[in-house]
Amino acid sequence: MSALQKYPHLFAPLDLGFTTIKNRVLMGSMHTGLEETENGFSRMAAYFAERARGGVGMIITGGISPNMEGGRGAKLSNSDEVAEHRLITEAVHAADPDVKICMQILHMGPLAGHENSVAPSAVRSRIARHTPHALTEEGIEKQIADIVNCAICAKEAGYDGVEVIGSAGYLVSTFLVEKTNRRTDRWGGSFENRMRFPVEIMRRIREAVGPNFILIFRIAAMDMLEGGMSREEILTLAREIEKTGVSIISTHFTWHEAAVPTIATMVPRAAFTGVTGRLRKELKVPMITSNRINMPDVAEEVLTKGHADIISMARPMLADPDLVLKTLEGREDEINTCIACNQACLDHTFTGMEVSCLVNPRACHETFLNYEPSETRKKIAVVGAGPAGLAYAEVAAGRGHDVTLYEASPEIGGQFNLAKRIPGKEEFYETLRYFGKMIEKRNITLHLNTRVSADMLLKGEYDKVIVATGISPRVPEIEGITHPKVAGYIDVITGKKPVGRKVAIMGAGGIGFDVAEKITHEGTSASLDIGIFAKEWGIDFEHHPRGGVTGIEPEVAWADREVTLLQRKTTPVGRGLGRTTGWTHRIALARRGVRMVNGVEYLKIDDDGLHLMVGDEYQVMDVDTVIICAGQTPLRDLYDDLIAKGQSAELVGGAFEAMELDAKRAINQACHLAAAV
Ligand code: FAD
Ligand code: NAP
Ligand code: SF4
Repeated sequence: MSALQKYPHLFAPLDLGFTTIKNRVLMGSMHTGLEETENGFSRMAAYFAERARGGVGMIITGGISPNMEGGRGAKLSNSDEVAEHRLITEAVHAADPDVKICMQILHMGPLAGHENSVAPSAVRSRIARHTPHALTEEGIEKQIADIVNCAICAKEAGYDGVEVIGSAGYLVSTFLVEKTNRRTDRWGGSFENRMRFPVEIMRRIREAVGPNFILIFRIAAMDMLEGGMSREEILTLAREIEKTGVSIISTHFTWHEAAVPTIATMVPRAAFTGVTGRLRKELKVPMITSNRINMPDVAEEVLTKGHADIISMARPMLADPDLVLKTLEGREDEINTCIACNQACLDHTFTGMEVSCLVNPRACHETFLNYEPSETRKKIAVVGAGPAGLAYAEVAAGRGHDVTLYEASPEIGGQFNLAKRIPGKEEFYETLRYFGKMIEKRNITLHLNTRVSADMLLKGEYDKVIVATGISPRVPEIEGITHPKVAGYIDVITGKKPVGRKVAIMGAGGIGFDVAEKITHEGTSASLDIGIFAKEWGIDFEHHPRGGVTGIEPEVAWADREVTLLQRKTTPVGRGLGRTTGWTHRIALARRGVRMVNGVEYLKIDDDGLHLMVGDEYQVMDVDTVIICAGQTPLRDLYDDLIAKGQSAELVGGAFEAMELDAKRAINQACHLAAAV
């Protein structure tokens, strides 16, 4: 079956009257940090051009501010800035003249991160550092004029259109809800007054740029705020926006301050598209939907159901710039799927770092990290098929080297085979599928069930040996550590060791949290069932009370276990987890009754349980099982043996450094080394 038969909706062009989008895949807006980096615009030009070559129909850039008030990042308001943006538009149109690129206009309002931030009223957001200044009437007119000017500049810079973000807690959206708009003039009070700001912006932009320019408004189709917008208000706003002559309405879900996960890996795929679908039935303008749509079959299904006209895939385009091309060529099994971990993208954005991607470290580094064909073909042995070994083998073989990959266990993946068993982390299966396919495609010789020794490698006469043997779980030196109550996390996750009703988890890092999630879980994973997800997070997709969440208590089914997560540090438990996802894990476990205790000192384990000091207090926790999640140390026996026998070798991943190692660092290190071999 051809791709056009298999994905009839995805590959159908969309006629906007004055222009046509060649397919229904949009690369959604993402701030990358390149906007503010030296030579960032040249780097963005390469980054976007690669996605254009990869077959996407339309691209929306990261948010650009219309003025100084709107944010600390890049702005577009004058001819010098227009010239910078031309680098992007020219590169994209040169890569494929049929690909449209629109610029997102982002006025961050109260989230601008500086002391001169502005908003309809002086209401500080829970997640902002500063209280914004309430805009005067003249101030409001200035913001509108600056946004219109920004759109005109974008047109001059060669963009095919602009998107105005009217959601997420940024300026436009703060006019819409009573919580942040306390005005009593014509910009506040009734909903008619509150929506005046976005409607005026879109009306005046259309007037200024003329009819043949793509104009997109991004609406909060469900803002996830207690007392947020009602379904009727959203529909009223969408209808008024439609009348201003916009080309497309894009739907967004949530404000950044909302306490509901909307894009983390625990969110089911395409969970929110039904909300777009409901709105779409009431409007004529084409609509974009988004959130956790990471594979073409999911996208096609959303379009088939009539939930949207265009599918926005943002992070999936970081993970694999060629997603559309691979789909078109029937190579879906070669797609490097976004696992929605946020570790190298959003976590970086929110900590001021340049964005990249855990599964594709080239993302946003296209001008530095390239996998060019090698001039000489080397014979390389890679030992260990965890993420580090797999990434190294794939890149080195892709560059033309002769790679043999050895793995002691019966399957590839290393610790990802544990991660994939954690409820909410099922996307890790996709990464393993991807690497499995790449082993085949790149002609990598794979030996499973093969624990390699130094002598075997010496006999192989390899030009290069890569040791990616990973880690050993740390076993703390505590009296009673061999007591039958004690279990290691590997045995617990794989089900080799039974877990009692009363449990202490020693160590509250990423693995401690994952183990707590696994042993408190009951029934189907919320990430695989939208109904369960909605219940667990208190969302009513059907009736859509204000914000979709007002007055709804979360309902969580959890296993009948008393679990305590322990750590020695006195910092809050879970502080080291990902910036954008850590809070979801902390809330989810707290709702399952998991206790979290910091500042402990472990004394011993015996038949009575776990003896410990909590602060100055001696306690005996009467537990059936103590699960050890106390970090890891590098597994380097093989490496040490090789060096002792005179064979040079290179360490990568956990074998190189286990401290604070995650897959992001393991894959990144492996790709850089393999790019240089
Ligand atoms: P490993 O994955 O440990 O792989 C090493 C491989 O080498 C193993 O397959 C082993 O069998 C093999 N091997 C060892 N010795 C030999 C030998 N002599 N011969 C042949 N083969 C050998 N990281 C994240 O970034 N995000 C997450 O969400 C995340 N979740 C996790 C959840 C769990 C439950 C666990 C356990 C880990 C998680 N991690 C996560 C951590 C991540 O999986 C590791 O950082 C990563 O796997 C390290 O990769 P590696 O290739 O260095 O080592
Ligand atoms: P970790 O994050 O380093 O946590 C180790 C835990 O063990 C800490 O709570 C530490 O806290 C405790 N510990 C360390 N030494 C100890 C000792 N001698 N005795 C008792 N406790 C000790 O490591 P991890 O949880 O094993 O995770 C491994 C890596 O996988 C991490 O780097 C993590 O990034 C990654 N991972 C990521 C995710 C994710 O969702 N992003 C999920 C799982 C794993 P105290 O020293 O305070 O007790
Ligand atoms: Fe997706 Fe994770 Fe890559 Fe971000 S870092 S694009 S969430 S795989």
